[in-house]
Amino acid sequence: MLYSIATVCLSGTLREKINAIAAAGFRGIEIFENDLITHDGPVSEIRRMVEDHGLEIVTYQPFRDFEGMPEPLRQKAFARAERKFDLMAQLGTDLLMVCSNVNPQALGGIQRATDDLHELGERAQARGLRIAYEALAWARHVHDYRDAWEIVRRTDHPHVGLCLDTFHTYSRGTELDTLLNIPGDRIFLVQMADAPRLSMDHLSWSRHYRCFPGQGELDLGRFMTHLQATGYGGPLSLEIFNDQFRAGSAHKTAADGYRSLVYINRTAEARQAQAARPLPDVTPPAEIQFIEFAINDTEKQALTTLLQQLGFHHAGTHHKKAVELWRQGQVNLVMNLEPDSFAQRYHQQRGVSVCAFGLGCQGVEALVERAALLGYPPLHGNPETDTHGIPAISGPGDALLYLVDEAIEPAHWEREFVWHETAEPLAYLSRVDHIATSMSHEEMLHSVLLYRALFNMQGTPSVDVSDPGGLVKSQVMQTPDHAVCFTLNSSQARNTVSGHILDRYAGTGVNHIALQTSDIFAMAERLRRQGTPTMQVTENYYDDLGARFSHLPDELLARLRKYGILYDEDGNGVFFQLFTRMFAGRFCVEIVQRQGYQGFGVPNAQVRMTMQARELVQ
Ligand code: MG
Repeated sequence: MLYSIATVCLSGTLREKINAIAAAGFRGIEIFENDLITHDGPVSEIRRMVEDHGLEIVTYQPFRDFEGMPEPLRQKAFARAERKFDLMAQLGTDLLMVCSNVNPQALGGIQRATDDLHELGERAQARGLRIAYEALAWARHVHDYRDAWEIVRRTDHPHVGLCLDTFHTYSRGTELDTLLNIPGDRIFLVQMADAPRLSMDHLSWSRHYRCFPGQGELDLGRFMTHLQATGYGGPLSLEIFNDQFRAGSAHKTAADGYRSLVYINRTAEARQAQAARPLPDVTPPAEIQFIEFAINDTEKQALTTLLQQLGFHHAGTHHKKAVELWRQGQVNLVMNLEPDSFAQRYHQQRGVSVCAFGLGCQGVEALVERAALLGYPPLHGNPETDTHGIPAISGPGDALLYLVDEAIEPAHWEREFVWHETAEPLAYLSRVDHIATSMSHEEMLHSVLLYRALFNMQGTPSVDVSDPGGLVKSQVMQTPDHAVCFTLNSSQARNTVSGHILDRYAGTGVNHIALQTSDIFAMAERLRRQGTPTMQVTENYYDDLGARFSHLPDELLARLRKYGILYDEDGNGVFFQLFTRMFAGRFCVEIVQRQGYQGFGVPNAQVRMTMQARELVQ
């Protein structure tokens, strides 16, 4: 299939959009009327730009208010169409996309629409052009692809075909099985868009929240299976109206768009072997094996103190570099102070940060190949200095995601580090539960696609959480067995905790690292004995908790209150959370105890963010 994208998806001038679209690897482009109108040169120049970039214009769109118009508006609509045909001849495209009529004056009736489209087909044929007819979800009469197909079928004209748009189909919850009965050669164009599931009017939902396949919550894999059954071989084109995309970097958005098509079309590519190398299957990562901090000397002293208080011990030192490994249970924390390293360059730009994660993976070779095919270039470090030999890709916020081969772990630790004799290690904390990262909305969409397309991770529906400074959107990306979880938080409001974190990091950054314990009260008592401050929680929180969970024994409630521990329940079990104070105003450690509980304490997020916001202004 020819991969294509509509100019409306991207920011910038038409010239910038064409550059970004070609650079991302697309071969097709949909020219939107607004981009053509606002271009400051002749139409012939647009045609030349497109051709010079090796692109093909798959359609010119949209053509509105056409079918079902009463006279004299009907004749005016045909006159408008003839002018569009003139323009298409100059542009060098043969397909006009007609979307179903939203005009209040439009008259209903399948046969009336059929007659109009048949006449349009005749006129198009006379000029060697074609018409693709699309059912808009909010159209006056034809808002269902099955009705649009019935009109196209009755038109029985070789120059009139169907345009399918996944958003219009899914947003109305239309069944897909009828698609199986449509011959692929009667479909002239397929437009792909994903979206979060929202309850709002179709038009606003479409105009502001569409996103690339893999970034939203629609089951587009099912649509692709049905589409393949029709035998369709035409363009697969992205048509995304999204506020973030139109404000973000055209090149980064276009690159995400291209990889979203490679990802959503992976089964067809593998079956038809159109791609020389179809996307290899991969197993989701098994664990977060290490977390690496970019840090300077002063910050290292403070972080060392915090880690010791949490029960970590200095397990090893790199045999050549200024890199220390701190360990407890299966949690490995790396502090990197090596001059002229990725970590130190990261530190110069962003200050103390988490600059890398190690993901324990099976089949790293297949993952590296999949990353390359998806356009996430695998990085192999400097062979002189980076002797660990672990490949990485650039992840959210440009932090490195190392792909650590589970089969050879722990060989890289043994080889690279000098080990320290220590007393019996403490075991308050056992493993990484999840990592929460603050990022912009645009980066959140980028990250969701990366975790899903590359690692086969799954997303939960995003939720809005109230922060004293505004709303924060939160979404979890996790492996099916929940072994690796990232919670992503974004906010448009600068005064939220997420907004502050973004400011401090000058971009994406870790907000908290959640570590599991099997006895949160023992951990809390240890912190208290050492005088380690933890996040303060209001008295009102516990009064409310007692009311919400009236079955909680008074004694348990008193202990939660004493240590500032948050509590929640779901259908599977119970959950305890304890937060350290923010480190350098950027991140904290969350200690969690899960007893069957599957969530991430969303009901407690508001109190957590409120308390953290107070810490940040102190
Ligand atoms: Mg469309």
